[in-house]
Formats: sequence, C-alpha cells, structure tokens
Amino acid sequence: LVKAIDVTKRFTGFTALDRASLDIRKGEVCCIIGPSGSGKSTFLRCINMLERIDGGAIWIGGELLGYRRDGDRLYEMRDSEIARQRRRTGMVFQRFNLFPHLTALQNVTEGPIHVLGEERKAAADHARELLARVGLADKMNHYPSELSGGQQQRVAIARAMGMRPELILFDEPTSALDPELVSEVLDVMKDLAESGMTMVVVTHEMGFARGVADTVAFMEAGRIEEVGPAKKVLSEPDNARCAAFIRAVH
Ligand code: ATP
Ligand code: MG
Repeated sequence: LVKAIDVTKRFTGFTALDRASLDIRKGEVCCIIGPSGSGKSTFLRCINMLERIDGGAIWIGGELLGYRRDGDRLYEMRDSEIARQRRRTGMVFQRFNLFPHLTALQNVTEGPIHVLGEERKAAADHARELLARVGLADKMNHYPSELSGGQQQRVAIARAMGMRPELILFDEPTSALDPELVSEVLDVMKDLAESGMTMVVVTHEMGFARGVADTVAFMEAGRIEEVGPAKKVLSEPDNARCAAFIRAVH
C-alpha cells in the first residue's frame, strides 16, 4: 500500500532523511523506532505530504505522491490534487490537536461534513459508532478540556478514522500521556490493527511493537538501518546500533 524509495529530505544544510526506503502492505502494521532526531517524524510527514521531498519517490496504493505523469514527463500536482491524495492518509500526533471549541462528536464529524461533504446525519451516525468503538460512548458531548489525555487521544484516533483513510500514521501517540493512560490508547490501536487497518506507528512502546507490529524499521541519522519482521528486528537484529537501541529502551 505504501512504497517509499530512496526518500531524501533536506533542511537547509542538513539531511533529515537519507535515501529511506520502506514497503508496507495493505493491512500491515509497521513500527518505526530509533533515537531522537533520526528522522522518524520527518518520514511520516513526507508520507502524509506535510513536507515536500527532495529526492526519491513515495507511492500510496500505486499512486505516485505529488506528481502526475504525462507521457514520459512528470508534472507537479495542483494543490487540489495534493489535497485529494492527502485524504487517503490519516495522522495521529503526539499532542492530540483536537478543536477545543468542539465536542468529541463534533471533532469527529467536522472533517467528514466539511471536507468529504457527508450529510450531517450520516457523519454523526458514523462518528457515534467510532467513538463507541474507542470506548467513549458516554463522552460524545464532552469538550476536550473535559476529557483526560488518553480520552482525547482516543477521540483523535476516531477523528482520523472518520475520514475513512486507507492508512493511519501515528507519531508517538502515547508519549505525551501519563503512564496510566498509555494502555487504553494502545488497546484501541491494537483493536484497529486487528480490524485490518494499515498503520505506521512511530513508538518507543516495545511491548506494542512486539505484540502488534508485523514489521519494524530502525532509523538512525535519517537512514533506515534495519527493517524486517518485528520478531527478527526486536530480538535478533543484524545492526549493532539497532540492538543497542532496543536494549536501552527496555
Ligand atoms: P524525535 O524522536 O525526537 O521525535 P525524530 O526521529 O522524529 O525525533 P525528526 O523530527 O524527524 O526526528 O527530525 C529529524 C532531524 O531533522 C532533526 O535533527 C531535526 O532537528 C531536523 N528537522 C526536523 N524538522 C525540521 C525543520 N522544519 N527545519 C529544520 N530542521 C528540521
Ligand atoms: Mg518525532
């Protein structure tokens, strides 16, 4: 579903992504691990087209991101086409980024109504179903300030789902949470994974990676230094720095 080949991203004088390649099949969960500053967030932002890439290419569902082919020439896409492509991917951030003036339900229906053009009633029905699924059936009319961090993050996941994405990117979704709230969010993510959602998850939760991920990629200094089946990468990685990193976060 996602194919990234030799993705390079530079910020003035600094290479944040250095020929990163990754393949994610439909229904697969891929965890990305690695030290701070290794380019994990930048990689997700490139997949979600929040950043332009300087080299390489990314395909989602066989569609090249950002460029249109005409004969043997490539043209940059118009903003409207980029917006359409971006809607194929959902994103959940470390900070939940909910709209503070909207209830949980309204946070979930906002995009489907205003961006996808869904009818209010249909969007609300779908949103109720999603909020029930993340365990918030009784909090639908609460505002973000009336919810715990774990509840807010579950609303953010329901909101991403409301846009009916083909894949969801998670950037350290539990690292801003109090420890006792981490598992309720990971449980929702596990449930989502079991339902067949394609997910790319940047996380330091090794238990989640071990239990839920199909593949794990280890990044360092903008490069994917090791990638493979989760069990293999987490228990007997070939790369010495990957092994050291996994020991250190345990
Ligand atoms: P963390 O685990 O701390 O979240 P990360 O692996 O997600 O780290 P990135 O946020 O992708 O790392 O950053 C990779 C590198 O790119 C860092 O050195 C960072 O300083 C740099 N970087 C990221 N965004 C920008 C930007 N907009 N301008 C300049 N440099 C940037
Ligand atoms: Mg990051």
